[in-house]
Amino acid sequence: MTNIKNIFNFKSVIELLDYFKDEKTCISFYEQVRWNGQPVCPHCGSFKTPYRTAKGFKCSEKLCHKKFTVKVGTIFEQSHIPLRTWFAAIYLQTAHKKGISSLQLSRDLNITQKTAWYLLHRIREMLRAKEPVMLKGTVEADETYVGGRDKNRHKHKRKGVTGVGDKIAMLGLVERGGRVYAQRIKAPTREVISPVITEHIELGSNLHTDEHGAYIEVGKKYNHKSVRHILQIYVDGDVTTNTIEGFWANLKRGIYGIYHYTSEKHINRYLDEFCARYNTRHLGEDERFENFLRQSESRLTWKRLVG
Ligand SMILES: [Zn+2]
Repeated sequence: MTNIKNIFNFKSVIELLDYFKDEKTCISFYEQVRWNGQPVCPHCGSFKTPYRTAKGFKCSEKLCHKKFTVKVGTIFEQSHIPLRTWFAAIYLQTAHKKGISSLQLSRDLNITQKTAWYLLHRIREMLRAKEPVMLKGTVEADETYVGGRDKNRHKHKRKGVTGVGDKIAMLGLVERGGRVYAQRIKAPTREVISPVITEHIELGSNLHTDEHGAYIEVGKKYNHKSVRHILQIYVDGDVTTNTIEGFWANLKRGIYGIYHYTSEKHINRYLDEFCARYNTRHLGEDERFENFLRQSESRLTWKRLVG
């Protein structure tokens, strides 16, 4: 990859689009990122050097002989949108701290809002952590809600209920100075929270939470300390949940300020997006872009998205 690193260095969307001046440049860049110069047949998995064709490759394995391009098996497959547009969308979505709305992206890239919406969701699929997340050291855990507030809904959308049941609950775990993991949960109860914690935090780690009772039992597997928010104590020695609360604050600014609404169906995708951004916060925008592009080998079909 060193050859890419040297030439690939940008600090703005203008520099990115200058570099990716045409589809050919994008494709050869993506071939380098995905295969490191050694194409792999997505049909049979063969590493045998394929034949070059006008539009891409043809597998040289006798039993396969299928055609493919670098886009097969990735989020870009079956998309008529140029890679240049995709790359700009990835850059814009991941560089903005609070994300970007489909309306804004459609204006920035001169595409329809429907296309922008689809691109953003497919990119979120790419941002989803593919490997299990295991946190350790000192980990803060906290639950929060988005949505709800019946009185703020349009009349015909009011559900006639208020409070917790009307909102979407989420659990977040953040390693002090490290990564974050967050997911939607059915309810902030002991039964729901405990397994998420044991699956994502190494046993014996320091666990910091507020005084919510749901953490008490699972806390016995950790060095568990809590701050008493009810007494307005937010920091007690090094015990605090301020880091995860900062993450929630940013997430909510994005959801309410940029996306304006969210549905239960898509909340995990928004969480993936915000986690991915947080977990790459130490990278430069070009490194982050390349890092995400390496994860593009999955495809969210329209059917799965709207179905
Ligand atoms: Zn093949």
